[in-house]
Amino acid sequence: VWNECLSFIKDNIKQQAYKTWFEPIKPVKLAGEALTIQVPSKFFYEWLEEHYIKLLRVALVKQLGEDAKLVYDVRMENNYSSSNPHTVKIPSSNRNPINPQGVTVPMDINKRELKNPFIIPGIQKVKIESQLNPNYNFASFVEGDSNRLGRSAGMAVANKPGGTSFNPLLIYGGVGLGKTHIAHAIGVEIKDKYPDKTVLYISSEKFTQQYIDSVKGNTRNDFIHFYQMIDVLIIDDVQFLSGKTGTQDVFFHIFNHLHQNGKQVILTSDKAPVDMQDIEQRLLSRFKWGLSAELQAPDYETRVSILKNKLYRDGVEMPDEIIEYIAKHIKSNVRELEGVLISMIAQASFNRKEFTLSLTKQIVDKFVKNTKREVSIDYIQKVVSSYFELDVATLQSKTRKRHIVQARQLAMYFAKRMTKASLASIGSQIGKRDHATVLHACKTVDNLTETDKQFRKYVDDITKKLTF
Ligand code: ADP
Ligand code: MG
Repeated sequence: VWNECLSFIKDNIKQQAYKTWFEPIKPVKLAGEALTIQVPSKFFYEWLEEHYIKLLRVALVKQLGEDAKLVYDVRMENNYSSSNPHTVKIPSSNRNPINPQGVTVPMDINKRELKNPFIIPGIQKVKIESQLNPNYNFASFVEGDSNRLGRSAGMAVANKPGGTSFNPLLIYGGVGLGKTHIAHAIGVEIKDKYPDKTVLYISSEKFTQQYIDSVKGNTRNDFIHFYQMIDVLIIDDVQFLSGKTGTQDVFFHIFNHLHQNGKQVILTSDKAPVDMQDIEQRLLSRFKWGLSAELQAPDYETRVSILKNKLYRDGVEMPDEIIEYIAKHIKSNVRELEGVLISMIAQASFNRKEFTLSLTKQIVDKFVKNTKREVSIDYIQKVVSSYFELDVATLQSKTRKRHIVQARQLAMYFAKRMTKASLASIGSQIGKRDHATVLHACKTVDNLTETDKQFRKYVDDITKKLTF
C-alpha cells in the first residue's frame, strides 16, 4: 500500500522534495484503514503535516478509501527508541474522535512494549506514552503525618498543573518511602483530569541515557524539542544527575523552557537540594523556586494503615495481631513492609498454612537481618582492597595492571550482587566507570569463577568477609 502511495506522491512533487521527505519514511504497519509510518524526528513529522498532509491524504484515500487514517510513529533516535518508544500519533483529517479518552497508560511500566498505537483524530496535539503506572495513584497512597505535605502538594499540582507556585515540585526522602509512588500518582491524576495534557514520567538514568545517545546520534536537537513539548514532566531520582554536567545543562535548558511556558515539572530525589552534591548551583537554585516536600519514615499508625490498605487491595485477610507485629518491627521503609506481606502471602499459600505469629516472626526476622546485612559500595571496596593488599585509590585508579583490574572487577561484581545500586551508579562510585564496564566486570567474574579455581577461592573468601 505504501509503495502505491509513494508512486502517486512521486508523480506529484519535485524529485528533491520526494527524496528528502518521503524516502526516509518507513511503513510500519497496516491495521484496517490505519497505516502507521515511522518518521525520524518530530521536526520531520511537523514538516510533513504542514506541507504534505493534503497530498498524503489523497494518496491514502486512493488506496484505503474514505476512512483512511495515518499514524505517525516518531522515532527520535534509533538507539533508545527501540527500548523506549515514544510514539507520537497525529490525526488524519477525519474529525470524529474514535477514542475520546486519549492515551491509555501501559498496565505495567516494566514492560517496555509498545501498546497498540491508535489515532486521535481531530485533536491537533501530539500524544506521548506517559510511562505511568496506574497502580501508583492517590487512592492507593495512604496518608499519614510522615507524608502529608508531599501528598497534598502533589494533589494541588495535579489539580492545576503549572498553575500553582509549586513549580517545580520536588519530593525528597529516603528509599522506599513513596517518592516514586507520589510522582506517578500526580501524573495519573493529571491524565485523568486533563486527558489532553502530555505527561511524561522518566527516571533520571533513562533521561541521561537518552541524552547521551542523542549526542552520539547527532539528534540532540530532537531530544530537546521532544522534551520541550511536554506539559507535565516528571523526573525521578534526580540525584543521579550529579556529576553529569552535559545532562544537567540540557535539563536546565529544558526546565527553563517548560517553566517559562507554564508547564509543570515534578522531581524526586533522595536528598534535599541543600545536600545534593555535584549538581550545578543554577539548577539547585531553580529547584528552590518551587516547593520541596520531604517524605519521612511512616509512624506506627501509618504503617498499620498501609498494611491494611494493601491487604484489602489484595483481598487477603490477616489477623490484627499479626499486622501489628509487622508494623512494630519493620519501621523505616514501606517497600519492606510490602515485602514482608508478599513473603507471608506466598509462604502461607505455598504451604497451605494459616497466618501464624510464628511464621510472621520468622519472616520479619529474616527481613530485619537482611537489611542489616546490606553493605555499602564503600565497604565492599574497602574489603576487596584489603583482601588484595591494595588501597582503595589504587583499586579505583585507571591502571591496567592485571591483578588490580581483577580486584576492581570483583568489587563491581559484589556491588552488583549485594547492593541495590544500578550498574551506572556502581560504575561511578568505583573509579568513575560507565555501566558497560560494570556489566563486563560482572560477566568476567561469572566466567572466571566457573573456570578458574584460584579465582573461585577469591570470590568465596570475599563473600565470607562481606557477610560476616
Ligand atoms: P521510593 O521511590 O521513595 O524509593 P516507592 O515510591 O518506590 O519509594 O515506594 C515503595 C513501595 O512502597 C511502593 O510499592 C509504594 O507503593 C509503597 N508505598 C510507599 N508509601 C506508601 C503509602 N503512603 N501508602 C501506600 N503505599 C506506599
Ligand atoms: Mg523511587
